[in-house]
Amino acid sequence: MNLTDPSLLRSRCYVHGHWISADSGAFVPVINPATGEEIARVPALGAIETRRAIDAAAGAFAAWRQRTARERAGFLKRWHRLILDNQEDLARVLTLENGKPLTEARGEVEYGAEFIEWFAEEAVRAYGETIPSPWSDRRIVTIKQPVGVCAAITPWNFPLAMVTRKCAAALAAGCTVIVKPALETPLTALALAELADRAGIPPGVLNIVTGPAEDIGREFTAHPKIGKLSFTGSTEVGRQLMAHAASTLKRVALELGGNAPFIVFADADPEEAVSGAISAKFRNGGQSCVAANRFLVEEGIHLTFMQRLAERIAALHVGPGWEEGVSVGPLIHSRAVEKIEVLIAEAVAKGAEIIIGGKRHVLGGNFFEPTLITGVRPTMRLFNEEIFGPVAAVTMFRDEAEAIALANATDYGLAAYFYTQDLKRAWRMAEALECGMVGINVGRVSTTVAPFGGLKHSGFGREGSHYGLEEYLEVKYLCFGV
Ligand code: ADP
Repeated sequence: MNLTDPSLLRSRCYVHGHWISADSGAFVPVINPATGEEIARVPALGAIETRRAIDAAAGAFAAWRQRTARERAGFLKRWHRLILDNQEDLARVLTLENGKPLTEARGEVEYGAEFIEWFAEEAVRAYGETIPSPWSDRRIVTIKQPVGVCAAITPWNFPLAMVTRKCAAALAAGCTVIVKPALETPLTALALAELADRAGIPPGVLNIVTGPAEDIGREFTAHPKIGKLSFTGSTEVGRQLMAHAASTLKRVALELGGNAPFIVFADADPEEAVSGAISAKFRNGGQSCVAANRFLVEEGIHLTFMQRLAERIAALHVGPGWEEGVSVGPLIHSRAVEKIEVLIAEAVAKGAEIIIGGKRHVLGGNFFEPTLITGVRPTMRLFNEEIFGPVAAVTMFRDEAEAIALANATDYGLAAYFYTQDLKRAWRMAEALECGMVGINVGRVSTTVAPFGGLKHSGFGREGSHYGLEEYLEVKYLCFGV
């Protein structure tokens, strides 16, 4: 793999400052999605080891919360610095297990590290308030306190940033954490733990466990010492976890699937709209919950938009992430490829038309051709399901009312994008779209400083921004008799 620092490649779990294996010695292989080859093996921890990790985090909580916010920020800043110092190595590990182009992986390391810096800075601003009292002999104050031991379950599509977005906020707030990264991409998370260790973050404050998701997830939701569960992943698993967490009344934050509309009005700047479309659709090969899933294009610009988008898609270079000039890597696994094939076949059978691509790439394996498909209708699965791949599905509309109706005709509500030069329409649209994030004349909205999250079946809770810190804090009201 050619790492400058090979010791970043850890294949054991990080619990209470130690690198541990499963009691049974069992492991799970980590597969390179570009080649199908095994990269490493990580422990298959079960319920017992997970409980130990929870105990470690619970044991570390009292001392961690007692530290001043400034002290916690100091640890986080050291961690942040070490991540940036090791950016290239981390990017390589990330590309190897996730498949994304190395340039995107480098970008993710930077973006992911930013959450740590941001929350280090926010840690010292977890203000309470004083409230004017209705009683002359009493004073009212609120203070903020950490919610306790937190569990985090993260997905494979952003193996670094999804870990830091949760952990940095939790640690800044004074919580301790146990993270279960996706089985597809545990190595990036373990490398982060190695750097956290070097940053001097005390044992038990951050723990990483790998293994069968259901066993670990069950322990996270059932264990009385866990105060909060933060999950990013599919709506189906999110629903299950929420149901299980109900038994112990845990706080839950769910960042689930999306079905983002990308709306192009006839008055849009076509060049800008096409550039935004490429970014919103093909970053990470379309494997992002905020990826544009449905292109809704007004009649008057449909032809121009399709022609230019087709040219840009044809120019995308597919290949292994580590090769120079690659813009679209492999999909994560063969199931993802099969799902896309099924969605496309169903749409074509119902009358949609493939303009470009539409099939497996000649490279074979998990590579799929960047695809443009038009004539997509609300009756098709392609319109209703999260595609999670390099397939741009286009539906034509006639007016603003139809655009809004189509955009909102989904159970999901994470991100939406639209392009228009009409200011009044921009406000109307922004207010009418049922989602947590709106890109207006931009194809990318994610940033550390803004609240990321959704509504409807895309879940609830916000990550990043000052709202992200609040998620890990309880408000306590103090009433003083004077
Ligand atoms: P995807 O389909 O994108 O892989 P998942 O929701 O299956 O999305 O996975 C997201 C995260 O949830 C991963 O870390 C995965 O291991 C974990 N996960 C999957 N199934 C369960 C489960 N039943 N309980 C807890 N975690 C789960």
